[in-house]
Amino acid sequence: MSGTERCETHVWASVGITARDGVVCRIWECEQCQVWTAEPFAPEREIAWDETWLSER
Ligand SMILES: [Zn+2]
Repeated sequence: MSGTERCETHVWASVGITARDGVVCRIWECEQCQVWTAEPFAPEREIAWDETWLSER
């Protein structure tokens, strides 16, 4: 695979998190052909930091 070729069944790997237009997104990239996509995080699934055990660390 090279250049603009795209494989038929992408092998997605998460390569990081970013904020786009104020929306937090997880970036996924195909390990074989380098196409990528941004998965928006659902705002309704966000919980308050204080409600997590992480906040007590
Ligand atoms: Zn691919």
